[in-house]
Amino acid sequence: MPDAFSDSPSSMPAPRSPAPGDPALAGEAARQAALDAYRLFDTGPEPALDDIVRLVTRVCDVPGAVLSLIDRDLQRFKARIGIDCDSTPRRVSICDHTIRTPETPLVIPDVARDPRFADLTLRIGGEPVRFYAGVPVLGREGHALGALCAMDVRPRELADEQLDSLRILARQTRHLLELRCFARDQRRLAEERASTLRKAEASRQYLQEEMAQILQSARMDPLTGLLNRAALQQLRSDPDALRRLDAGPYCLVVLDIDHFKRINDTHGHREGDRALRAVGEAVEASIRHDDVAVRFGGEEFLLVLPETGVEAAVEVAERIRAAVAGLELPFSPALTVSAGVAAGDPALGQPEAVFERADRALYRAKEGGRDRVVVADAD
Ligand code: GH3
Ligand code: MG
Ligand code: MG
Repeated sequence: MPDAFSDSPSSMPAPRSPAPGDPALAGEAARQAALDAYRLFDTGPEPALDDIVRLVTRVCDVPGAVLSLIDRDLQRFKARIGIDCDSTPRRVSICDHTIRTPETPLVIPDVARDPRFADLTLRIGGEPVRFYAGVPVLGREGHALGALCAMDVRPRELADEQLDSLRILARQTRHLLELRCFARDQRRLAEERASTLRKAEASRQYLQEEMAQILQSARMDPLTGLLNRAALQQLRSDPDALRRLDAGPYCLVVLDIDHFKRINDTHGHREGDRALRAVGEAVEASIRHDDVAVRFGGEEFLLVLPETGVEAAVEVAERIRAAVAGLELPFSPALTVSAGVAAGDPALGQPEAVFERADRALYRAKEGGRDRVVVADAD
């Protein structure tokens, strides 16, 4: 990039009239794009830039100073002191001339004697500007974005040190603008990172829910919504479930639909499924939250009732039996179930043995005429 500002100032550059194809304007599109990329307009107050122009008035001992940015048709004052407007048309801007030689400051000792600026409208405290000294402010790629200028209402010159200080302040302005861009890029990166993290977290949650659903559906009997045989296998090795059975006496209930084959044969499989769903609902409605209900065979159900005595278990089984018998379904004879109930005691044996006893009790219920609950003999 050009290290500007080392050349001597040109106090009267050759007059130029910007026109399409003018070599002075070649690269104007790139310059404008560079300025746009800085996004310097429509921002809040920027005290660091205000400080720079304040320093310009002090070191140059002038009543007016601006940081002017040359936009499409306007010169816009990003920071200003003394000058009483925010912008002027670009065609009457001295800074528009300053940026055409990005390496060289432009000093106009008496604006009134320069015909190029006959239309200058800038005023300080109501008086027309007569003196102008501007140093181009460059962007990252060396394009002149605008100029840092000192202005007075009387014709004059700047001392060499003052002009040099103006160059230094223009360089500092460039650094400030770069820092500003850097900070904005960092903010954008941080926002992108945060958004990526949010998306990753949402995907993780989605996958977790999907996984939970898959696991849940793998454990569920789709017809009745009760647990299936696979879930029962899992429960047999689930430490939580085993601990609850180990906590004290419990009961198992084995429940079987009566003459279900006949229902299927007479009314069709679809009606048979409807009967199965109805029994599943009766089971679900009759157990506690902590009880476990499994459809472990075609029309066979197992209830695991932790911390439950025989009487309470019979009550549950009886409630299901009565609920099924009371269902209003178009079956004749009516849909009924039989159940066998067996009490288990963790101190006395394994659940498998309790299941065997409940199953034998169920067999007796069938033998006894069905639609009934039978309690297993004690071992
Ligand atoms: P019992 O009173 O002695 O239990 O007689 P049952 O007819 O109920 O017993 P059996 O074991 O002879 O018949 C069970 C029937 O259950 C046979 C089978 O077709 C039916 N079944 C099993 N699973 C399903 C199912 O998912 N849907 C339907 N509709 N029927 C099923
Ligand atoms: Mg049956
Ligand atoms: Mg059966």
